[in-house]
Amino acid sequence: MSTLALPEMTRLSESGVDFVNEPYFENLLKRKADSGQIREIIAKAKNKEALDIEETASLLNADEPELIEQIFDTARQLKKDVYGNRIVLFAPLYVGNYCVNDCRYCGFRRSNPDSVRRTLTSEELHEQIENLLKNGHKRLIAVFGEHRNYGPEYIANCVNEIYSVQVGNNSIRRVNINAAPLSHEGYRIVKAAGIGTYQVFQETYHHSTYARMHPKGTRKSNFMWRLDSPARAIESGCDDVGLGALFGLANWKFEVLSLVAHAVHLMKHYRVGPHTISFPRIRPASGVTIKEVAEHDVKDDDFLRLIAILRLSVPYTGLIVTAREPAALRKTALGFGVSQIDAGGRIEIGGYVEAGDAQTQALEKEQFELGDIRPLDEVVCQLLDDGYIPSFCTACYRLGRTGEVFMEYAIPGFIQNMCTPNALTTLQEYLSDFASPKTKAVGEKMLKQEFDKIADGKRKFEILDRIERIRNTDERDLYF
Ligand code: SAM
Ligand code: SF4
Repeated sequence: MSTLALPEMTRLSESGVDFVNEPYFENLLKRKADSGQIREIIAKAKNKEALDIEETASLLNADEPELIEQIFDTARQLKKDVYGNRIVLFAPLYVGNYCVNDCRYCGFRRSNPDSVRRTLTSEELHEQIENLLKNGHKRLIAVFGEHRNYGPEYIANCVNEIYSVQVGNNSIRRVNINAAPLSHEGYRIVKAAGIGTYQVFQETYHHSTYARMHPKGTRKSNFMWRLDSPARAIESGCDDVGLGALFGLANWKFEVLSLVAHAVHLMKHYRVGPHTISFPRIRPASGVTIKEVAEHDVKDDDFLRLIAILRLSVPYTGLIVTAREPAALRKTALGFGVSQIDAGGRIEIGGYVEAGDAQTQALEKEQFELGDIRPLDEVVCQLLDDGYIPSFCTACYRLGRTGEVFMEYAIPGFIQNMCTPNALTTLQEYLSDFASPKTKAVGEKMLKQEFDKIADGKRKFEILDRIERIRNTDERDLYF
């Protein structure tokens, strides 16, 4: 396939059916479970068992304050049990914003005359990566509009180029992508370039809202091609897929139920659930006010509640809250569900070099407005202050530990033996190479505290050895 052609939207996956049974979902959202049943569901979730859509609907319908509090408490507990106190950090990298679609909520929509269109040249891409590396980033998500210029070969080339950039002994270790749906062949091409997660958001699972937001005749107006894309990705070897919905377009409870239905669908057909789920809320964008498109604007309380419910329903799926949200709200969400955040991100194309450290935003160059534009070091410092270990770990996917089989429930002691050690060694790298004196001081204290908690034995010795090698030599990238 040439980079000049967009793929035919024809061959769906083996499991390609529309599982979003709207009347059934809506009916479920009207049924109230009694508090005894809800307690049983909460008890099942506490046991780290994934919930089905009926059970999820019961949690969504639970509105007694005492039950909502129990859901939050369980989410806090699960977060600790499954993820410990690690928070994975990444940065978005916008590569190109040409787009054939006309999504009503997006600053990059084709009918927006104010949007400044641009694709990074190879040289600019290198400069962006050098800058990201100099700040300490190791994990990226590369973002693309939908356009014939951004075919799978083009995306694969970008990914290869990103991996090739070296600053000292640092390079980007995991490149995830957020790009329009591809064909099976397209997914095989990007997988061969070594992508981490393939992320695509359904935006809304509500059919008529989807049709209204994605005008007829545009590629994105094909609901089924998009709904089926994570399944095609998995069939083509990309078994870390990221799902998401853009909250505000339709009823939030319906979207949560549909996200869980999507996870259940993938699990049923491929025995692999989604690697991550994202739940961005609509932000103002060039020519877009929230009022105009977010008829179902989600209030902060409901937003936090939906995160807690997702934590219970899909205990082993990473939950991402991006810098669209303000710092204070992100901090709260970390306590009971969220396991990954972006930090120090610039979303205007070329922003990592051209905007420097300026804490400003130029809406006509961006897809939407951010709520948290603190630099990476400030976010790392706050995480440490709040008792979290910022982690830049990329070990699993590099060692082929992808898909659901390698998660904590499949391998006893996974967190103690792999995740925490890798979080500590990558934190040591950050402290040695990039941290401000203040962050370094708090970080060293946290490292010692966390190291002291590790049970004596061979693994503790190995971790100490690696931390010391990173501290005292140029050796980097030592992972378990
Ligand atoms: N063009 C690709 C696509 O549509 O899948 C890349 C997506 S876009 C660069 C990444 C995501 O940003 C979209 O899937 C959408 O959910 C989200 N987004 C778009 N406009 C937004 C807005 N105004 N506020 C918040 N998120 C927005
Ligand atoms: Fe294009 Fe994606 Fe924006 Fe839609 S959300 S206009 S497909 S960049």
